[in-house]
Amino acid sequence: MSLSATSPAFGSFYPSRSHRAMPRFTMAVRSRELTATPILTKLQKDCATPLPLLRHVADAMASDMRAGLSADGGSDLKMILSYVDSLPSGNEKGLFYALDLGGTNFRVLRVQLGGKEERVIATEFEQVSIPQDFMFGTSEKLFDFIASGLAKFAQNEGGKFHLPSGRIREIGFTFSFPVKQTSIDSGILIKWTKGFAVSGTAGRDVVACLNEAMERQGLDMRVSALVNDSVGTLAGARYWDDDVMVAVILGTGTNACYVERLAAIPKLQGQMSSTGETIINTEWGAFSNGLPLTVYDREMDNASINPGEQIFEKTISGMYLGEIVRRVLLKMAEDSDLFGASVPAKLAAPHVLRTPDICAMQQDNSDDLQAVGSILYNVAGVESNLRARSIVVEVCDTIVQRGGRLAGAGIVGILQKMEEDSKGLIFGKRTVVAMDGGLYENYPQYREYLQGAVTDLLGTDISNNVIIEHSKDGSGIGAALLAASNSKYEHDY
Ligand code: ADP
Ligand code: MG
Repeated sequence: MSLSATSPAFGSFYPSRSHRAMPRFTMAVRSRELTATPILTKLQKDCATPLPLLRHVADAMASDMRAGLSADGGSDLKMILSYVDSLPSGNEKGLFYALDLGGTNFRVLRVQLGGKEERVIATEFEQVSIPQDFMFGTSEKLFDFIASGLAKFAQNEGGKFHLPSGRIREIGFTFSFPVKQTSIDSGILIKWTKGFAVSGTAGRDVVACLNEAMERQGLDMRVSALVNDSVGTLAGARYWDDDVMVAVILGTGTNACYVERLAAIPKLQGQMSSTGETIINTEWGAFSNGLPLTVYDREMDNASINPGEQIFEKTISGMYLGEIVRRVLLKMAEDSDLFGASVPAKLAAPHVLRTPDICAMQQDNSDDLQAVGSILYNVAGVESNLRARSIVVEVCDTIVQRGGRLAGAGIVGILQKMEEDSKGLIFGKRTVVAMDGGLYENYPQYREYLQGAVTDLLGTDISNNVIIEHSKDGSGIGAALLAASNSKYEHDY
């Protein structure tokens, strides 16, 4: 990557006379006087999320939801039917498996359910990180890798886990990519997101892909539910709390789902379920309306494997926050003396600065920002003074504040849509939003900004009724619970 690119949007921060006069090989050398402050100030201005902007985002989310419910393709939001019409009741019994393919890892889990009295008797899980080359290889290669991990895990079953004889193991498959669900246990991959570029899966039934791989592994299991991770989280959280109405994932990517009345889904054209309700998977990562974007966001988007897509996801989720910060820091290094006279070469590599790194830097309370210094050194090979470290922390905070507050506005948009249709049934009583994902779980500032935006938008009284709650590992158990609700043996209990 060239270090000499000076984006036109920031040309004014750099004295154009010396810029033009400099030969190429000294482009990385900067005058000591140029501070990064103007770049930071402009960043803060461009990323600002004042209340009117948040209102606009929440309103746009609500109206995009309506448009997506009216017709397929009617909006950025796909508003996908999950085919989950009944949430776990607590009566589920038996041994069930779940497989969760997220972004960074896949997890396998088994749970022994004991019904209303005993609830979750035991769970066990294993997590396997997905090697990079599987994310860019063929569909068979990826699904074989997953099925073999599942086969190994299933071999070690014992202890409190018990499958009645004559039964086949049933599995809930959490697949956190946009899928056009065709039934509770089948769905066509629309496209890969979050950096995956696996060939041969888009347009295919992902359950069939998994079944074929399990067959190749000689593994006899039946996928009884295909669920999005947000849907799994909603199911898992509802198992413990009847007031859960919405679930949001903030991990590598982001998504949200909620409980909708069938009567409010025009594109269904009169189909009914026994409960009159269903779970809608919004696929809100594709939202794009009214977001405060910067030149860094646009350049990151252009360089991504899915330019122009998943703009909300690219603004608020874990895969991207660190990368946006890196792009800002690189610009600062090029155009100012932030890291001394030269531009650190390592900082030019996409995704070297990860969201956990910026999170760790923001937790540094020491006077000399020691941890910030060592992360910058380890990640980017940068020696930094205290002034530079403080600016870096401010850049992190700016990007994380924008992300957290926009996520909060998105949540309010969903609640607002539900409230408008049901008058008082959302804001007039306790309503729980179940949250899951590594970003939400590990980033305290992000959580605070998110909650702050919700409170700003709803006011104290209403926001006291809205409980935003971390549902740890909810999606894994949720998928297993949905496998149980859709078990072919379900009538046995
Ligand atoms: P997935 O989204 O792949 O299913 P997770 O929900 O576990 O997986 O989220 C992983 C993501 O969470 C990482 O990609 C990263 O962006 C974010 N994350 C993980 N650990 C931290 C951390 N300590 N601080 C901030 N973000 C984190
Ligand atoms: Mg996940």
